[in-house]
Amino acid sequence: MYEGIVQDLIDELGKLPGIGPKSAQRIAFHLLDADDAAVRRLAEVLVTVKDTVRFCEICGNVSAEETCRICTDPRRTDEVICVVEESKDIVAIEKIREFKGRYHVLGGAIDPIGGVGPNDLRITQLMSRLGSGETTEVILALDPNIEGEATSAYLSRLLGPLELSVTRLASGLPVGGDLDYADEMTLGRAFLGRRTV
Ligand SMILES: [Zn+2]
Repeated sequence: MYEGIVQDLIDELGKLPGIGPKSAQRIAFHLLDADDAAVRRLAEVLVTVKDTVRFCEICGNVSAEETCRICTDPRRTDEVICVVEESKDIVAIEKIREFKGRYHVLGGAIDPIGGVGPNDLRITQLMSRLGSGETTEVILALDPNIEGEATSAYLSRLLGPLELSVTRLASGLPVGGDLDYADEMTLGRAFLGRRTV
């Protein structure tokens, strides 16, 4: 244990995803050694991002405006909606430059152990988007892990009775990880090879 504020800093850093106690300590001491201006810039960007970034009212993607750039892009349509867990998955799929539809961000995946149920995700918003009847295909592009599987199964059942095709990415993605762990080529192949559920 370090004294006071230094330990506070290590504790806060340790709460971040993927940062264990050792990494938290290393980052804390890096920050203590770094020059004032750099640390101040980091602090400012952290505060500014919380103050200014919003989530798109339609799809839930991070956005600088009420509606994100993808939802307002007239070259894209709601004919195909790709359902993802997080905004970072949109970035991964956009990199493969194959998709001209729009997205829907759930905000996570069903995880009974972690206490995340269907009502904690943006599923009601998805259903109301589909209510317009413009959509002919819903792509379930969830993480290739247990939670992603559970969520895909739940959504397939829910969307089954609707008059649209529900597809899933082809297998071949690294199992157990996040969607964005896959390289562009693997993700591209899984995307183009998607199958009807
Ligand atoms: Zn949007």
